[in-house]
Amino acid sequence: MDLQSPVIVEVLLDLPLPRGFDYHAALATEEDVGRRVKVPWGTGQKVGVIRALKHTSTYPADKIKEVLEIWRDVPPLNARDWQLLEFCSSYYHYPLGQTVLAMLPPALRRVGGWQPPRRVRQPRKYPSQSSAPPLNEAQRSVVQAILQQPNFAVHLIHGVTGSGKTEVYFSLIEKVLERGRQVLLLVPEINLTPQLEQRLARRWPNLNWISLHSGVSEKERARRWLTAQTGAARLVLGTRLAVFTPLPELGLIVVDEEHEASFKQQDGLRYSARDLAIVRARQGEFPIILGSATPTLESWHNARTGRYQLHHLRERAVPGACLPQLTLAPTMQEGLPHWATVLHETLSRGEQVLVFINRRGYAPVLYCPNCGWQAACPRCSVRLVVHRRTRQLRCHHCGLEQVLHESCPSCGNVHMETRGEGTQQVEERLRNYCPSARLLRLDSDSLALKGSWERAREQILDHQVDILVGTQLLVKGHDFPDLSLVVVLNADQSLFSSDFRASERLYAQLLQVAGRAGRAEKAGQVWIETDYPGHPVLLALMQHETENFLDQELALRRQMGWPPFNYLAILRAEARDVGKVTVFLEEARQKALTRGGEGICIFDPVPSTLARKAGFHRWQLLVQGAHRASLQVFLASWVDELRALRSGRSIHWVLEVDPWDC
Ligand code: ADP
Ligand code: ZN
Ligand code: ZN
Repeated sequence: MDLQSPVIVEVLLDLPLPRGFDYHAALATEEDVGRRVKVPWGTGQKVGVIRALKHTSTYPADKIKEVLEIWRDVPPLNARDWQLLEFCSSYYHYPLGQTVLAMLPPALRRVGGWQPPRRVRQPRKYPSQSSAPPLNEAQRSVVQAILQQPNFAVHLIHGVTGSGKTEVYFSLIEKVLERGRQVLLLVPEINLTPQLEQRLARRWPNLNWISLHSGVSEKERARRWLTAQTGAARLVLGTRLAVFTPLPELGLIVVDEEHEASFKQQDGLRYSARDLAIVRARQGEFPIILGSATPTLESWHNARTGRYQLHHLRERAVPGACLPQLTLAPTMQEGLPHWATVLHETLSRGEQVLVFINRRGYAPVLYCPNCGWQAACPRCSVRLVVHRRTRQLRCHHCGLEQVLHESCPSCGNVHMETRGEGTQQVEERLRNYCPSARLLRLDSDSLALKGSWERAREQILDHQVDILVGTQLLVKGHDFPDLSLVVVLNADQSLFSSDFRASERLYAQLLQVAGRAGRAEKAGQVWIETDYPGHPVLLALMQHETENFLDQELALRRQMGWPPFNYLAILRAEARDVGKVTVFLEEARQKALTRGGEGICIFDPVPSTLARKAGFHRWQLLVQGAHRASLQVFLASWVDELRALRSGRSIHWVLEVDPWDC
């Protein structure tokens, strides 16, 4: 290093530009690469991260400003952290500066610097230690097979609900911790963490572990993140963003419920935490485990072709517990539903019931039987949902609220009617059938009112509730031992959808709901209301034939030419002025056609499923590639052209790689 030349640092900032910015930093050394800095920016200041040290700059020397502060209070990002961030930035075509800053906890991004919380955290009140149940034979053989491979390998555990996947994870985690390595356990929802937190605390009362999710305060989140980075915390339990946590001694990643859509970030940096976790394991040369009762077709395909190792847990783990019995019943327009008898029987045995309907509010449609008028959102291309208790109409997409109409705004008719059911109406109906049953409605409306999911969960476990009415919030991997009947209302609304993933998702959802029934010694029953009992999704479900279903779906996808047999990217654009959106997408399409590429197929611009949201028109353009690599090459140069398009400056647009919603 030439001691004469002044040191220049390249600083990454949270800006939508594909490069860093040069600053003087006389005292910077190579040790400072990966550290946070405060720099002047315009008339203000910004926090950035040092990417590199250099001795020359393409900027004129007198234009280069001085770094204000290099923060050495916390460790720098290391080479492995950079490796993941750089992969992420290049694969998702998202600026490196924005990628790095998005991954830092907000409390470490403040120009005021980082002040650790003053209060020393109370040690957790550890529930008493509980030892692991002896693994059954199926669990043992999965654990042994996985332990044989200490290097990189992706293991897909396909286990029916309640088959003891979590015990398998724990057993593997224990081995990895004993070897002195750190562990990352990713879960789809914050809702799932209290349950897992308790299990972890009981299993390892003396382990230093942390959980990271959006429910933790900013300061506390940063403090925990730092304990992972220094190696003090040995295990991290977290939702998707936790995939970026620096873990210098990481030796195992577990992605539980790998099929869950919440592993996909839907705005900003649109990454898949599951996919990045796999990349991270490959970079770090350690194994990764994906677990699910309903694996995604992408993972299933990889398992079938030998890229992933497939492991099965075909039976429920608790001795005597068997899979629930399924019944399909037609929807009743009037009178008591078919499941009324079994509902009463279940309640009279003192067991709990879950009634699932995937729609909150009272009714999805308010209409006038006289003239046909329907209540629609003026800002979105959807109907307004009736919320009876608050006497409101609400848009579930933009949040718009109106007072419920007493009469038809079009013809004045005072006898307005609703169509369809939401959770509130189902709750009302159940109160009529079973006036003495204690009901708890769980959807995002009721949770917003009544506080935390954690409390609700305790109420259910304490058996202060007989009937639960809820949306998909309820479905995710919860274990309620007294719950023995699950009723699914209105399954049909999802049977006919244009999304090529609709069947896969419906199957997963129904199987997960059904899996809530009869988790412990109690035999479970599941009733599904449908008018299409012959639908392939329902037939497969009835027979508990998940593997056949997945194989059939794969065959269909191959035939139709959808993922996982090719790769997708979507260019999404939105603006108040629909003309601007279509002009941009048409220009983008022309650029794409001119550029082309091997196996690249460019579709026409079309309106998105929700064609208008909060006043913005939304359109999209799909690009399909026969190979991941050639699609990436194409996207890298296309995105540069898109950034240069003038028509793109006055609208919002985003390029999404491997979209989950098309
Ligand atoms: P999954 O994650 O597949 O849904 P869990 O690991 O949560 O399954 O296990 C389901 C239930 O079975 C839990 O109550 C758990 O304590 C119990 N369980 C798991 N493995 C065993 C075992 N080997 N013996 C007895 N009970 C078990
Ligand atoms: Zn009318
Ligand atoms: Zn709206």
